[in-house]
Formats: sequence, structure tokens, C-alpha cells
Amino acid sequence: MSTLTFNAYQTQALSTAIYPEKGTGSALALAYVGLGLGEAGEVQGKLKKVIRDNGGVLTEQARTDIGKELGDLLWYVAGAASELGLDLGDVAQGNLDKLSDRQMRGVLGGSGDNR
Ligand SMILES: [Mg+2]
Repeated sequence: MSTLTFNAYQTQALSTAIYPEKGTGSALALAYVGLGLGEAGEVQGKLKKVIRDNGGVLTEQARTDIGKELGDLLWYVAGAASELGLDLGDVAQGNLDKLSDRQMRGVLGGSGDNR
């Protein structure tokens, strides 16, 4: 189990980034990392194939491969946060705070971004 923090990950991820106007928060840089969030589709595709090709049984290979795709997705999430000037740790904490607040108010279920 890794003790890598979100912010350390974000810093290291950004150091491996190669794309136009990296780190500027420009529309082009935001578009680039935004398009990269399409990695979510690669996660979905591999999950789909577990159902289609293996009767829904998750093999160790599939688990490993899907984990790698989740990593690819995380890289672009970190990149998007960077281009937006957000710390990934703050994004993660903010999400937990939001869910905890909803849980306390009994509105975890339901819909609406700002409930
Ligand atoms: Mg990928």
C-alpha cells in the first residue's frame, strides 16, 4: 500500500506531462487535459469486456489492466486540476467534505450537484 499523497502525485504527474502550453491554464492546455479525461472510456471498455468476454468474472489480468487505466485517468484528473490551479488534495478533500455533509443531512441519495 502506497503512502503517496494526492499533492505529491499531482506534482510528479505534472513533471511527466508533455503538451502545448502545459501549466499555463490556457484554453488549449485545459482542452488537452479535458480530452485526456476520455481515459474514463478506456476504463469502461475494459469493464465491458469483463462482462462480454468473461461472463462478468474479473480475472487478475483484467483487474491489473483496469487499474492501469484508472491510473491513466488519474493522471488527466491531476492534469486538469493543475491547469485549473487546484491542488489535487484539496479536490479530494472537498469531495469527501461534500459527501460527508450530504450524509449527515440524509441527502446522499437523490440528484442535483448542489444538494
Ligand atoms: Mg489508457
